[in-house]
Amino acid sequence: MSYFQITDKIRELSEQAMSDIEQQFKLIDKTAQTNTEKVLAAFQRHNVSDTCFAPTSGYGYNDKGREVMDLVFADTMSSQYALVRTGFVNGTHAITNALFAALRPGQTLLAATGLPYDTLHGVIGLTGNYRGSLKDYDMSYSQVDLLECGTPDIDAIVETVREGGIGAVLIQRSRGYSSRRAVTVKEIGEICKAVKAVDSSVNIFVDNCYGEFVEAIEPGDVGVDIFAGSLIKGPGGGLAPRGGYICGREDLVDAAAYRLTSPGIGGDSGASPEGYRLYFQGLFMAPHTVAQALKTAVFCARLLELLGYKTFPKFDEFRSDIVQVVQFGEPSALERFCRGIQKGAPVDSYVTPIPSDMPGYDYPVIMAAGAFVQGATIELSADGPMREPYNAYLQGGLTFESGKLGIMLAAGLLDSR
Ligand SMILES: *Cc1c(COP(=O)(O)O)cnc(C)c1O
Repeated sequence: MSYFQITDKIRELSEQAMSDIEQQFKLIDKTAQTNTEKVLAAFQRHNVSDTCFAPTSGYGYNDKGREVMDLVFADTMSSQYALVRTGFVNGTHAITNALFAALRPGQTLLAATGLPYDTLHGVIGLTGNYRGSLKDYDMSYSQVDLLECGTPDIDAIVETVREGGIGAVLIQRSRGYSSRRAVTVKEIGEICKAVKAVDSSVNIFVDNCYGEFVEAIEPGDVGVDIFAGSLIKGPGGGLAPRGGYICGREDLVDAAAYRLTSPGIGGDSGASPEGYRLYFQGLFMAPHTVAQALKTAVFCARLLELLGYKTFPKFDEFRSDIVQVVQFGEPSALERFCRGIQKGAPVDSYVTPIPSDMPGYDYPVIMAAGAFVQGATIELSADGPMREPYNAYLQGGLTFESGKLGIMLAAGLLDSR
């Protein structure tokens, strides 16, 4: 029985893709098993109970959900301390707080993995000249690009740190809107080690967006001082309705909390009127949900490759983020792909995505997203900046079965001309 019009050709190619990616699925399952054990152990260690789900009001003193969530999250991410807050409006907000904690006025931020994610350009002061940017607070910026092969240029990073003035090093784990590969946690550890050997006072910050639970280790396992991400991506497990997190050294997470609320108040206040249940349940689901997204990405890589498109990473490459890039080379194929993804969504499947300007981005972007949580990119979604080489950045998929259908519908639209 079939409920969608999908051609025999696409169904046959999908069957072939499924058999080609069996080995990758085994590896994804193995990582999900390890990460589930890690999360479950953290829940038990901190006695997560029904009382952690109760709503609080006013100042939110002794909000048990908030307090226990920080402990569980810190354990899960192998870090000393965590600040998991529903009040972070997005990942950029959490990252901004973390950067202001990691860096002092007069110091320089060194981006060690090339140009950071688009929404951080205004935060740093590369664009916009906003009041309250790092630049506005006399914190300057310097950058070392990745080597041609996508590997961090450790020699150049070390050289720049040796010249002095660097307060923090920013490592972006995920590819973001670029064709480069993700930086692995092992490579993040190598950067840490090399930088600390020159100057142990330099703080290492990682933008961990899209990276959580993709590997069995996290930045906290390899000596990173502070890292941050969004809860409507991996670690929210598709259930967290909003928010972000910061993990790391206690003094730095405290500094971030002082910036988020007020100096002297920090992380010890803040009510949660709707309680933390969905955040706990989401974190519990996260290793599994991320595995669903990874399977969707791998299937997409193989099916689109069989249809003749370039895909990064290739279906059988090592992954450290959930993003799948498909290179279309021209605007119309990119638009058709995004329309197909939208047609596969459980929500808003009837709308047609069109390119438009977005806050934080410097060019029109086409976005396909039919999500239960607005803009949640742990749900099947595809974004395409309308510029050369017309890449689609696909991520998410709450269930592999639905993710697979979305990819098949998109493949059908591509193949229909
Ligand atoms: C999603 C993301 C961010 C933050 O984006 P928000 O839309 O503010 O959550 C930052 N860096 C990377 C690499 C990301 O993927």
